[in-house]
Amino acid sequence: MTSTAPANAPDWAARFSDRMARVRASEIRELLKLLDQPDILSFAGGIPDPDLFPIERIEACFGEVLSDPAQARQALQYSVSEGYLPLRQWIAERMTRDGMPCEPRNIMMTAGSQQGLDLLGKLLLSVGDTVMTARPTYLGALQAFNGYQPEYMDLPEGALTGEADAVLAARRPAVGYFVPDFANPTGASLTLEERQALLDLAGRLDMTLIEDAAYRELRFAGEPLPTLLALDIARAGSIEAARTLYCGTFSKTLSPALRIGWITGPAVVIEKLVLLKQGADLHVSTINQMVAERVVSEGYDQHLGRLRAAYAAKRETLLAALDRHMPAGVTWTPPEGGMFVWLTLPEGMDGKVLLERALTEERVAFVPGAPFFAEVASDNCIRLSYSLPNDADLEEGVRRLGRLIGRGQESARASATTVFS
Ligand code: PMP
Repeated sequence: MTSTAPANAPDWAARFSDRMARVRASEIRELLKLLDQPDILSFAGGIPDPDLFPIERIEACFGEVLSDPAQARQALQYSVSEGYLPLRQWIAERMTRDGMPCEPRNIMMTAGSQQGLDLLGKLLLSVGDTVMTARPTYLGALQAFNGYQPEYMDLPEGALTGEADAVLAARRPAVGYFVPDFANPTGASLTLEERQALLDLAGRLDMTLIEDAAYRELRFAGEPLPTLLALDIARAGSIEAARTLYCGTFSKTLSPALRIGWITGPAVVIEKLVLLKQGADLHVSTINQMVAERVVSEGYDQHLGRLRAAYAAKRETLLAALDRHMPAGVTWTPPEGGMFVWLTLPEGMDGKVLLERALTEERVAFVPGAPFFAEVASDNCIRLSYSLPNDADLEEGVRRLGRLIGRGQESARASATTVFS
């Protein structure tokens, strides 16, 4: 929605900085704001299921912190920009067990991993630098980086097999941004070979890697794979020699409202990030960090077990419904974790046009795929999130969507055109 200003208002557009040229509301986010109507079955919201928030435990931990006067005074006070030390210690130990030996000095807490992406953009990107991303990639990362005026480059075909080195050498990406586990929007993960090849490529190009691990803890199928940072540390000998900067978050496992994420990387990088964090907002909420540390210090793995089982069950329901209701020509790949399934529609069918018709004709919503592409977009894809709907709505929503896509295919055949383009 664009606001209108009175005639005597200053011409703000002319006063905004150059960097605002790329900072725009996403059409899709604007459209999705209209989806609150109760009769719409929505696969759009890529957010955690609130039924899975550990509400009682969070309530108890707030109570414990606030009922102890010494802790309460600390919890409600300003604190260091690096973040609450006991929480950073807990994260360092957990990451060390996950193959990423590191210490608290390698970790800075951020207001969600989204702020981590913004601060990394600020730290690493000069105007015109090239960021390489998967195709498609996380829209929020593009929004975070846009303010630093980079160019984007899709990971080229053959990049991981060394066949695109000439293209890559010409464009010299400074930064590569990847979500190796259960990516948003595709739900797809990089294989071990792809992770190794990505590190080889980063080495050949002398490129910094940003690893976004937002969904890593939500694996419910297949074997866990080492993170890019773990493989990087194994090659380089220590985190201090690694080129990968890792963004973690408690948003998908505890609660996004706590706004607690972190960046893990070499101490020299963390020291600079701390200066940027100071300038941005001083520190993450002290009380939220203290509460989060208490929450995760007991029973976190059992809690994760419950989350994984719940999302696995929802995924099963969605996949079974897709098998039952999607017409031929629609394809998808089952994710091994996370919250998303990516549908490729028949060639020529436009996800955005499909959404408009889905809303009016079938009262069903999802996110069209095109905005998730950094460089060259594909229109015939959509993102389905299965985190929020219950089983009955997953089934019914897919039935309606399949019916609509089928109608589009039929009328396209009848008129020898594409209906949803
Ligand atoms: N990365 C990815 C891939 C995401 O999907 C999200 C949330 N949608 C984030 C980062 C940001 O999450 P938060 O700031 O809550 O940690």
